[in-house]
Amino acid sequence: MVRDAHNRPLRDLRISLTDRCNMRCRYCMPREHFDGHDFLAKKEILSYEELSNVVESLMPLGLSKVRLTGGEPLLRKDICSFIKMLPKELDIAMTTNGILLERFAQDLADSGLNRVTVSLDAVDVETFQAMGDTDETPETVLRGIETARKAGLNVKVNTVIRAGYNEHSVKMVADRFVGSDVIVRYIEFMDVGETNSWNDDEVITGDMMRNMLENLSPISANHVGEVANRYLRGSQEIGFIESVSKPFCGDCNRARISADGSLYTCLFASKGNDLKSLIRMNASQEQIAEAVRSIWTIRDDAYSQNRGLVDKEKVEMSFIGG
Ligand code: SAM
Ligand code: SF4
Ligand code: SF4
Repeated sequence: MVRDAHNRPLRDLRISLTDRCNMRCRYCMPREHFDGHDFLAKKEILSYEELSNVVESLMPLGLSKVRLTGGEPLLRKDICSFIKMLPKELDIAMTTNGILLERFAQDLADSGLNRVTVSLDAVDVETFQAMGDTDETPETVLRGIETARKAGLNVKVNTVIRAGYNEHSVKMVADRFVGSDVIVRYIEFMDVGETNSWNDDEVITGDMMRNMLENLSPISANHVGEVANRYLRGSQEIGFIESVSKPFCGDCNRARISADGSLYTCLFASKGNDLKSLIRMNASQEQIAEAVRSIWTIRDDAYSQNRGLVDKEKVEMSFIGG
């Protein structure tokens, strides 16, 4: 098993399958920056064979979980064939905006996907369309969630809360899932990338969100490295991902690989580590593992804990994978 400079293991690999998306969430891919953007060309993107080779290489280092993300992962062609290639002993998850989920859920479950996190920032049409800068509706995403549940997938909902846009979603989204097994997790608006005009005043902290809900009692974490602080609201479980107000770098065991094959050791990194060249030189799995081991061993990232002290250009979240 490999450990970084702060003794953190490498457990979780987030794979960005594409840098493209069928939404333009204002907090992630604002249209004025991303319409007409130079997205990756097909030949720059790692193939499924190359990606599964990386995943297999990292198993001896302690990898136990893979999350497929992007951009929008369901835009990548034939994604189920990739899921089938992944080692069965891994926990395989996906984060999606849910627009295409109704169509794919059953095939995803049949291919070996274990869990899906669906982003849903509002259940009312007006707010959903404003947050996502989209003509789609929350009904499409809700149908996707229902289909995923029926297919046997474990489903969570991610709701980003941004001041002035969707504070009312704290209560409305939780209420929508009362009585179901879907866990809602609220995310503080983060300063990822350079294009989303992040500003401190637009952060609704976990504490502020909890004040908007009644009858909450904290429950303990499921495992070390869990990103959400968990609560029961009556019998409903909800979570808060408080990376701005309560950073959790201390237990961070996540690496990310961009669609073009660079390894990032922090969501707020400015530079990745090129693995694609190594892979395309036909490196063995031992050589890939060795390269990642040497990158991980010196990792000392803790951006959220040092927010405000670091002033480097950050890579976009849609590029390295949320
Ligand atoms: N397109 C997929 C989706 O939206 O679920 C996967 C990629 S998206 C980058 C992954 C997650 O990052 C989503 O849940 C999204 O809401 C979240 N996210 C993106 N930008 C964010 C920001 N500035 N602050 C907090 N969360 C953000
Ligand atoms: Fe696309 Fe997801 Fe970013 Fe929204 S959060 S723009 S759905 S990648
Ligand atoms: Fe991990 Fe970087 Fe986020 Fe800290 S800021 S939790 S090190 S990804």
